[in-house]
Formats: sequence, C-alpha cells, structure tokens
Amino acid sequence: MTIIAVFNQKGGVGKTTTALNLAAALIKTGRVTYGLDLDPQAHLSSIAGIVARSGDDTMLSLFQRNRPLRELVQESNSQIKIIPSHSELSKVDALFGKGFNVVNRLSASLKSEEIGKKDTPLIIDCCPMIGVLSLNALFACDGVIIPISADHLSTKGAIQLEKSLTALEPVLKRRIRRRYLLTRYDGRRRMAWDVLRLVEDRFGQEVCKTRISENVSLAESPALNMTVFEHSPASRGAQDYDDLLAELLADGFIE
Ligand code: ADP
Ligand code: MG
Repeated sequence: MTIIAVFNQKGGVGKTTTALNLAAALIKTGRVTYGLDLDPQAHLSSIAGIVARSGDDTMLSLFQRNRPLRELVQESNSQIKIIPSHSELSKVDALFGKGFNVVNRLSASLKSEEIGKKDTPLIIDCCPMIGVLSLNALFACDGVIIPISADHLSTKGAIQLEKSLTALEPVLKRRIRRRYLLTRYDGRRRMAWDVLRLVEDRFGQEVCKTRISENVSLAESPALNMTVFEHSPASRGAQDYDDLLAELLADGFIE
C-alpha cells in the first residue's frame, strides 16, 4: 500500500496536518516520499514553502493537458517531494467534470510514474468536498485515512464519507481500505470520549489505535513552514505521528 489519500468532507479536521506529518514520518524511515496537494487552498504546498510559478506547474496541468506528474515535483525543505496545487483547481469540476474518464486521470497518470511505488510512497491531501478532485484521489489510492477531530460535525463528515465510499465500491470493483483517525484528541474532554465510543462502535477495527493529541507544536509548525519533526521533534505531536506510521506499517496498511 503506497498511495494514501487523506480525506474527510469536513474542513479543519487535520487532513493537511496528517498528510504533512505522515509524509515526514515516512521520510525519517528513509523512503523517498511524495506529497500531492489536491486542495485548491494549497495549504500543503504553502506549508512546504512552495509557491508555484504558474498554474501549469501544478496539478492543474494534469487536468488541462495530461502533464506528467514527474515534471511537477518540487523539493521542499522537509525533503517531501511536493506536487503542488493551485487556486484554479477549484474550477476543475466546472471545466472538466463532464470529460471522459476524468475521475481516472490521476490513477492513469500514476501507472506510468515511479511515484507511489513501494519505496516511493505518495500521500494525497484532499479538499473537503466530494467532486472531481477527491474522486481522483479515491480512484488512485490504495487506502484512505479519514481524520476525525473529536467533535460532532467531523464525525458526521466521516459517516457521510463512509456512505460515499460504499457507493463507489461497485464502480471500483474493490473495497476501499480505510482507517479512521481521531485527531485533536483531548482525553480531558467528555466530548472526546463520546466521539471515540461512537466511532469505535460504528467503524470497529478500522479505527486507528493511535490518536493524535491536541498539541501546540502541531498547531504552530505550519506557520513556520515546518513539519512537527522539524519544529519540535520531542513533542507529543511528533510522537503521535511516529506512532501512527508504526501502526499503519505493522498492520500492512502502508507497505
Ligand atoms: P484540514 O486540512 O482538514 O482542513 P488542518 O490540518 O489544516 O485541517 O487543521 C486545521 C487547523 O487545526 C490548523 O490550524 C492546524 O494547525 C490545527 N491542527 C490540526 N491538528 C491539530 C492537533 N492535533 N493539535 C492542534 N492543532 C491542530
Ligand atoms: Mg487542508
């Protein structure tokens, strides 16, 4: 499993934080790791310090003219190889939504790339909407991580997504492997336990045992253009993302 999409229809649940720091944890294991930004808000790109020279140097050109992904890769300070996003990606649904096989564009492109293979894992940061962009991620990936910040609306987003994944499976002719990940978890809050119980009852074995704590280093590092490992390697946040990777490797969710 080497292509992982991080997705929840709800915004602000920790998708970008998880994509960034899971990729950074993979780098620490010596893997050449790619981060693909599929959110028009381009937070992953900007945290990585990447300002695209033009829309053509971003994911937009995959949709516009099938540009090979390897031509779009940019090195970041954190060593994550970033394939950047662009604000104009927000128009992809309107511009290309009716195109033939548009939802398979990323999957088809990755087949001819050295990106997303065993030693070159790819983490995709999705936008908080089901549309052409996130469907491309779901069709291309080997597994989905669904972050749930420990609150009611984020759980609702995960339940909606579960229904969407179930509806997509007959089209894909396979089950989409998934892991639900509690983020911003604060065990002192009653609501956090309630969400944990609800999520475990509903999603059972697919809930990660690792929970990502509410942690100030995780909140601070994006403004410094850093991963949590660069900003504060001894922090609880860094430990949590190391633990998450160890769990996903141990159960074969990531190869
Ligand atoms: P999304 O990509 O789902 O919109 P983000 O990863 O951007 O969510 O997170 C939303 C906000 O919450 C950001 O300001 C981020 O720094 C902060 N954040 C995310 N995870 C944590 C955490 N575990 N502890 C503290 N702050 C967090
Ligand atoms: Mg985001």
